[in-house]
Amino acid sequence: MSADKKSTMDYGLSTRDLSLNEALHSWYLKNGRHDLPWRKTNDPYQVYLSEIMLQQTQVRTVLERFYFPFLERFPTLKSVAEASEEELLKAWEGLGYYSRARNLHKTARITGGVLPKTAEELERLPGIGRSTARAIACFAFGEAQPILDANVRRILFRFFRRRRATEKELWRMAERLFDPTHPYEWNQAMMDLGAGLCLPKASHCDLCPLARECRGREAPQRYPAPKKKKEKPIRKCTILVHERAGRFALLRSEERFHGGLWQFPRSERASHAEVLGRVVQHYSHFTLDGEILNVDTLPDLFASTVRYFSVEEMEKLPMGGADRKVLQWVVGSEE
Ligand code: SF4
Repeated sequence: MSADKKSTMDYGLSTRDLSLNEALHSWYLKNGRHDLPWRKTNDPYQVYLSEIMLQQTQVRTVLERFYFPFLERFPTLKSVAEASEEELLKAWEGLGYYSRARNLHKTARITGGVLPKTAEELERLPGIGRSTARAIACFAFGEAQPILDANVRRILFRFFRRRRATEKELWRMAERLFDPTHPYEWNQAMMDLGAGLCLPKASHCDLCPLARECRGREAPQRYPAPKKKKEKPIRKCTILVHERAGRFALLRSEERFHGGLWQFPRSERASHAEVLGRVVQHYSHFTLDGEILNVDTLPDLFASTVRYFSVEEMEKLPMGGADRKVLQWVVGSEE
């Protein structure tokens, strides 16, 4: 039995779909983003790192500001395992979604710096979901399975003209369309199509290699149905700045979002306190609106958790965006 015939039977593809595979494959060879540094390597750690960084951050930001400095600081997964969580968080500062860094650290320690080779095993590690596991297994080890990131989802909704679909249905659609004979190119091509042609607010169907069979191309914007926009809650808080002999009180956050980062203590409004300013920071799920107060004493509840740092020492600590802004107010008020 020929390879093509076998894959047709195994994956339920028709001959029509096979010509689609060829169209996408040659489109990728001509138009794919081959220069992305994580596509020029099959080092599992570098592939894994890029996948984790790209989960919530745009390619451009990762490329321009984070990927290379991080690799310079931590060239191997073993070096990640040997570092402290605080060092990891410091290197991750500015990228946000810090649970990614904490999970990277846990994974490095669990695996001893050597990643397993299959998606099934990768998926059991902290912070590695099904699609990320398949991406790493495919790009680093050649495993032939489709992925399902945000770009691929959008293409599937449009290609199959679906306004809504469950997770299970989306995976089935991904399997249905997937080309197992060129898994690497297929997955990369789908990501590039979603990033370059099949965009959320525009679709360049005239240039798209899937256009011939795409059922949604008459009205791509109808697919998928728009999500109801949720109002982002505003979380008001009071941020306390307490100085002792030129050093400032900080504590390590235990919040899920910022766990492990150092921050100024938060509290109810203190009486008789000088207002230094206000900080507004936008996060994906809420907006923080904090009033910065200069206080003479800290509430007792912070007594056992705060430590005092000079401004120079604070520069070396991992801190979130809001607390970096508070630090600017502190430095400004000192001058
Ligand atoms: S034909 Fe248009 S809508 Fe369909 S996948 Fe291509 S760009 Fe998207």
